[in-house]
Amino acid sequence: MTNPLYDELFGKHAGQSTPFLILPDGTVWTHNAFLAKAAQYAHVLKAMGLQTGDRVAVQVEKSPDALALYAACVQAGLVFLPLNTAYTVDELSYFIDNSGARAVICDPAQRDGLAPVVASSGAVLETLDAAGCGTLVGKASHQPDIFDTAARVEDDLAAFLYTSGTTGRSKGAMLTQANLLSNARTLAERWHFTDKDVLLHALPIFHTHGLFVGTNITLIAGGAMIFVSKFNVEDMIALMPQATSMMGVPTFYTRLMSDERFTKDLTAHMRLFISGSAPLLAETHAQFEARTGHRILERYGMTETNMNTSNPYDGERRAGTVGFPLPGVELKITDPETGETLPKDTVGQIEVRGPNVFKGYWQMPEKTAAELREDGFFITGDLGLIDDRGYVHIVGRNKDLIISGGYNIYPKEIELVLDAQPGVLESAVIGVPHADFGETVVGVVVPESGETPDLDAIACAATTSLARFKHPRKLVCLDALPRNAMGKVQKNILRDQYKDLFV
Ligand code: ATP
Ligand code: MG
Repeated sequence: MTNPLYDELFGKHAGQSTPFLILPDGTVWTHNAFLAKAAQYAHVLKAMGLQTGDRVAVQVEKSPDALALYAACVQAGLVFLPLNTAYTVDELSYFIDNSGARAVICDPAQRDGLAPVVASSGAVLETLDAAGCGTLVGKASHQPDIFDTAARVEDDLAAFLYTSGTTGRSKGAMLTQANLLSNARTLAERWHFTDKDVLLHALPIFHTHGLFVGTNITLIAGGAMIFVSKFNVEDMIALMPQATSMMGVPTFYTRLMSDERFTKDLTAHMRLFISGSAPLLAETHAQFEARTGHRILERYGMTETNMNTSNPYDGERRAGTVGFPLPGVELKITDPETGETLPKDTVGQIEVRGPNVFKGYWQMPEKTAAELREDGFFITGDLGLIDDRGYVHIVGRNKDLIISGGYNIYPKEIELVLDAQPGVLESAVIGVPHADFGETVVGVVVPESGETPDLDAIACAATTSLARFKHPRKLVCLDALPRNAMGKVQKNILRDQYKDLFV
């Protein structure tokens, strides 16, 4: 019997006492120990009466046990459904209800709040905490440490991942074994991951970046991960000497650079720094190179498709771009109105097709039909262009496009101007309702620490660099931009906050 995802990521490490997870306190989980724990969890899940294809919702702190639950679901033929640890009981009830999960594994602290929700959905509730304790663990300790792997085929569902909810309510993306495997194989090869790699892993494991990109690549290559429960500069600096590679969201990079102990010497031995999940400013890219001599490799992906594009490992990593489509992934830029493919250097909607593209949104047939074309192309909701050298540039999300007086305005163009002004750390440009123009431009700027940007001077600078219809009608200063748990700017919150300015 075969189970392609289990066999290729986990099963092939059976019997190996090579390191897989290295914790900040020096504890090492070998591949063997990890697989034994996963097998025990697989037995417990089966003993709960779960059947092949049932969803297992998991909202627990990042830990080796939490990751073993992922392996257990794959081995038992269950659909792994990780949930953001920041979600409240109210939010969780939507996910539990929407997904029809048959089992819910939560932190003991959430148990009392969740019990009524889980009871009304008829699911089973067990607990697991960050230290590897909880009702699930007690039950697992009596179980055998090998499990008869459930037979699956590549087209079977492996995971349900809810999108980050940056543009609206999170959607459950149905991902097959083939979706995950094809991407893990391609990325490990493209980014030269081997069994010698030690990935400094400080991302959450409820999101595609930390779970599928970081973890699956390490597993397929046979390397190890230094498993940091939450990003913090202290641990990153202390542990970097043991690592060969790191993956992060852009804020990891800016926060590391804000510490003077983060030097060229500290990173001299590193093989690769990768960034994704949100745009990496070209300025951050340049500052990082000046500081360390490394050029960050930026890539682009999303919950529904895993990774789509990547800057090259060997060729030029172009700042401000997300590189080329990955092998096997087709990417085109289309006209949102007609769906026609647009010429080079023209902004349009980004569509992708390939073995990485999901099966559809769970119980959202209309949304699936609207975004996943019959010919297999997925309309990503992002806008971008392909330049004359084939590099893909992202200019923002379709939903963030501002249409003012009939003109299309791409917020990023204005943000680049605002970011470059003295005293400005970062900015977000949004469209708000306007009685005459339909929408108009509002710029939100965040000052650098201790600075008070001169908003009049900034308005003036915008006037000289941008066409009149793009000038922000209003500039406001905020201490910080609203971001979700993945560090993504939540423009819908800003739009809501300033929606009455011009009506
Ligand atoms: P939702 O779909 O619920 O609104 P979300 O799109 O933020 O949330 P994710 O699937 O976590 O949820 O994020 C994917 C999005 O992140 C992409 O569509 C893109 O907008 C953005 N993104 C990812 N990588 C990059 C990158 N390198 N540069 C710019 N944007 C990126
Ligand atoms: Mg999205």
